Amino acid sequence: MSEHFLQESKIDAIRAEQVMAFYAESDIQNLAGAVVFSLVVIAVYQFVSPWKYAPPLAMVYLATIMRSYYIRRYHRAPELRSADQWGKLQTWYSALAGLGWGIGFTLMLPSLPPAYQLLIVAVSAVSSASSVSEGFSYVWPSRMFTIATLVPQIIWLATVGDRLHTILFVLLLIFLPMTLWLSFKRNHIFAHAVELRLQNELLVKELIQQRDLVEQASRDKTRFLASASHDLRQPLSALVLFLDLLGADRQLSSQSQSMVLRAHQAANSLSGLLMTLLDISKLDASIVKPNRCTFAVQLLFKELENEFLPVAQGKGIQLSFVFSSALIDSDPVLLGQVLRNLISNALRYTDSGRIVVGCRHKRDILSIEVHDTGIGIPSDQHEAIFREFYQIGNKERDRQKGLGLGLAIVKRTVQLLGHGIGLRSRPGNGSCFAVTVPMAQDFMNDGTLPFRTESGQAEFNTRGQRIAIIENEEDIRVGMQSILQSWGCDVIAANSTDAIMGMLEHDRKPVTAIISDFGLSDSSNGIDAIAALRQRYRANLPALLITGDTTRETYVAAQEANLPLLYKPVKAEVLRTALVEIMQPSA
Ligand code: ADP
Repeated sequence: MSEHFLQESKIDAIRAEQVMAFYAESDIQNLAGAVVFSLVVIAVYQFVSPWKYAPPLAMVYLATIMRSYYIRRYHRAPELRSADQWGKLQTWYSALAGLGWGIGFTLMLPSLPPAYQLLIVAVSAVSSASSVSEGFSYVWPSRMFTIATLVPQIIWLATVGDRLHTILFVLLLIFLPMTLWLSFKRNHIFAHAVELRLQNELLVKELIQQRDLVEQASRDKTRFLASASHDLRQPLSALVLFLDLLGADRQLSSQSQSMVLRAHQAANSLSGLLMTLLDISKLDASIVKPNRCTFAVQLLFKELENEFLPVAQGKGIQLSFVFSSALIDSDPVLLGQVLRNLISNALRYTDSGRIVVGCRHKRDILSIEVHDTGIGIPSDQHEAIFREFYQIGNKERDRQKGLGLGLAIVKRTVQLLGHGIGLRSRPGNGSCFAVTVPMAQDFMNDGTLPFRTESGQAEFNTRGQRIAIIENEEDIRVGMQSILQSWGCDVIAANSTDAIMGMLEHDRKPVTAIISDFGLSDSSNGIDAIAALRQRYRANLPALLITGDTTRETYVAAQEANLPLLYKPVKAEVLRTALVEIMQPSA
């Protein structure tokens, strides 16, 4: 049923195209037909009586006027009739013109000398041929014209019986079907071309629809991930803070301490998995913007060495970083994340042997390579491992073995930075992942990393500081308050801007730093809360925002307000480092 319907609508569409093309081209041909017929009549009228040429002339003029009238109407308002109706109008009036030609010429022929008879037959043949070749888009009008013009003449030629007329009869008899066949052929080619074009248009439309669907699905997924991780982060944030606090309690029995330790490990691993999911949702939502600058790759190596050496030693694997004096142009934080992912993979998939991290220069490109002597990767998997959630040999999806997102994050980050990533590996022969980064032009750099390392900061004393917390989630508020108090801070906490302002109204001791949740209520957010407190105390009062919302809007709002933003779940040591950093006299 629907197949039939589709077929019908396809035929209609092709017919509409044919009629449109016919109407675009047939105006001049229509007028030329009337002129040619008039010229022939002028040439022969002295040999024939008026009743033989006057009525056919009237028929041809009437047909020409009507065709011309409908051509103009069609151009003005094609929607007035269906394509079929417009086509039929031209067909009937072309048939009328053809009858004028056929009957008129057949009536005139017997009274004419042979030379004029030849003229009439030749003009009829040429005009038919030209009408057929011009009307190939929509053939019925030219077909009717040709048949009506030639058939009466063919019949008369057959009846004369002498040699000349018999030859003319045979010639026209061959000419007529050939002309009609030619018109059929050309029309077929035209209709096929129109059909192909319509099919292509349909395909393009379908492709656009499919693309829109895929884009929508991808946006939905990103939104789902961002909001799901936001909802998960709130309780997890509180859990991590409470476990941090519990772990610091020296009065616990050794059995309880070991249970707290295991709970802490589980929460940390949950938080790590969640962070990985978040990283990819942030990359998808284009929240992450690279911040490129010139820096020494060696400084990144030093940091990674400090971080991974204990892990490698614990596993009995030799990890070495080959010294490099290269200066590169990249984002140190994002490139650090990429290398971190590659090195932790190398450690995970290497049971014995060594891991070497080093650089190779290729003109103005530096290839930073992570070599391992691990299990290796089959060549048919080299592309697939960069896909999301793709893992080799973790069919049981053991979370301890990762999520299969590490290399997907690596690939997206590398693309975001405009760098390249390559892989050489064979099963049993280890692997080499290489990130290609542009070398910096600027050799005047003093070699310091443009981002702050955490060493030394923790020495800044948090004891005695008066910290204002504005957080509407009670668990997190209480958790943060307890943690800060355990560091010797004097904490004042509330769930809204109005509440904290009310509490501070009669309070003489000034606040020295603010920690505010970003999303407080519909009418005010963390930025407003910080602004209100800064107005009360001083404009440069240290402040930071925390949030569970990974949307781009929140990120941009924090950046525009020039406020540091921490994502929940916030671990105790991260909170401490951030707090210390904003309270540094130089900050
Ligand atoms: P995950 O490590 O969480 O499984 P990744 O996206 O980081 O996810 O890696 C995808 C897959 O690629 C891994 O499951 C592993 O099979 C393979 N792989 C990645 N790095 C290495 C490596 N250095 N050596 C061997 N296999 C690796």
